[in-house]
Amino acid sequence: MKVLAPQEEFESRTTGARLGNVRPSRLPRTSVSRLRTWEVVAVITVVLLVTLGVWWQHGGFSQLVRGGSSTVSSLGQVTGLIAALGALFGITLTSRPGILERRYGLDTLLVAHRSIAIITVSAVVLHVFFATWARSLAADTSFLGALIDLALYEPWMVAALTSAVLFVLIALSSWHVIRHRLSYETWYFLHLLGYLTVALAFGHQVTLGSDFVGDPFALVWWCALASSTVIIVLASRVKVIALALSRRLAVSSVTRDAENIGTITLSGPGIRRIRATAGQYFLMRPLAKGLWWQAHPFSLSAAPTTDGLRFTIKALGDDSREILRIRPGTRVLLEGPYGAFTADRANGMPLVLIGCGVGIAPIRAILEDCSADASPIVIVRVHDETEFVHRSEIESLVHEKGGTLHVLCGPRAQLAPRDPFGAVNLKAWIPDAANRHAFICGPASLEFAVARGLRAAGMKRSQVHFERFDV
Ligand SMILES: Cc1cc2nc3c(=O)[nH]c(=O)nc-3n(C[C@H](O)[C@H](O)[C@H](O)COP(=O)(O)OP(=O)(O)OC[C@H]3O[C@@H](n4cnc5c(N)ncnc54)[C@H](O)[C@@H]3O)c2cc1C
Repeated sequence: MKVLAPQEEFESRTTGARLGNVRPSRLPRTSVSRLRTWEVVAVITVVLLVTLGVWWQHGGFSQLVRGGSSTVSSLGQVTGLIAALGALFGITLTSRPGILERRYGLDTLLVAHRSIAIITVSAVVLHVFFATWARSLAADTSFLGALIDLALYEPWMVAALTSAVLFVLIALSSWHVIRHRLSYETWYFLHLLGYLTVALAFGHQVTLGSDFVGDPFALVWWCALASSTVIIVLASRVKVIALALSRRLAVSSVTRDAENIGTITLSGPGIRRIRATAGQYFLMRPLAKGLWWQAHPFSLSAAPTTDGLRFTIKALGDDSREILRIRPGTRVLLEGPYGAFTADRANGMPLVLIGCGVGIAPIRAILEDCSADASPIVIVRVHDETEFVHRSEIESLVHEKGGTLHVLCGPRAQLAPRDPFGAVNLKAWIPDAANRHAFICGPASLEFAVARGLRAAGMKRSQVHFERFDV
């Protein structure tokens, strides 16, 4: 198998004939999500209204304003409902249903998941507190006595309390102070416990929840919500795993672009079954010693063709370092594609493409995907020349599509202009900012600075799209 230098590989893909192969054709694109935000809002509103309506119908609100033990008991019920609903919404989002992921992208789903998780865990803690307090008032016993009483004498309460403890532990593992001390794997596997955590709480909801016991409609409604969540989670996960297993793909080449950056191309008979769009990413699981048990996300660094899927990878930790040492011929399970970082979100408007470091990878792929007369404005931010991967490819693509390229290389203090992502400079580089869409890939700090500058230069929030590598 011939290992191509990056430029050679690129030329072979674009000219087709160089190696005497049949010209590779583009893979079919992923379909555009037709989901509208109002549809998502409508579903969430119905779920919230019906569930809180059940609480209201059972006199929850009148108890809440009555005062004394009634208020405490009602607070216990409503915080329990909020916690249970939050948990269902939360796991639905992390299971990444295709319809939502393709519309909003993983990073947006994770931001929503984090906000919901904060509400859910706060509600869980308050629920335990108010429910125990209500029990201590009713049984005329201490708070601790009431907690022990609940655990020992009520069905499913040991499971429910275990669930509450796990909820708090999982939330703490995401608190930035603790998160940075944990390896990604520890954090990830702790989060997988989230599914068990939600399941453990279900028993006490349907046997003790005063809103469900004795009200067949409420019970059916709650079981329907819980089973719909299970179906969505299973369908999203099982479908992508089955697809990954059915595709026969292996590493066809590995090339070094810089000391700690390399490019991997995957090909094989399974390639023809893939639909993917430049800018999307896959979860890659090489079936090699030490690597098979964890999938890592990597973005396409070239538009996907029947010749192969290309990924440009920076060795940031143990696994990415090992992936770059992988041998051609190694089988790889590829889950995806995922992501909404694709040029179709610009609705045909011209693009501004901004990449920093290895964030250049999806920017390079989107650039290739632009039409011949797209006149894209490309801005590359790197700390040194070696970090600017696929430079010659990017230069020829920019030239081919009538665009302009700005390269910001070196430490921030030595950059000219001094504040390249400030509004003044961005207005000079992108005079028609209001009529373009921007795609930015790089660290969060760069993304925020660029987004601020672009908005000041006249771009609307909806015209600025991000891909974050550090979720
Ligand atoms: C949507 C997306 C697209 C990406 N595309 C590219 C790309 O094209 N090229 C590239 O070099 N890097 C890309 N990354 C980053 C890449 O996934 C991580 O650098 C890689 O997983 C690091 O793994 P590690 O075990 O070597 O390092 P570690 O030291 O274990 O992790 C370093 C950091 O990488 C992240 N990370 C690790 N494992 C995962 C995982 N399974 N899922 C999500 N994040 C993880 C975490 O933020 C972690 O703190 C992308 C990340 C995301 C989220």
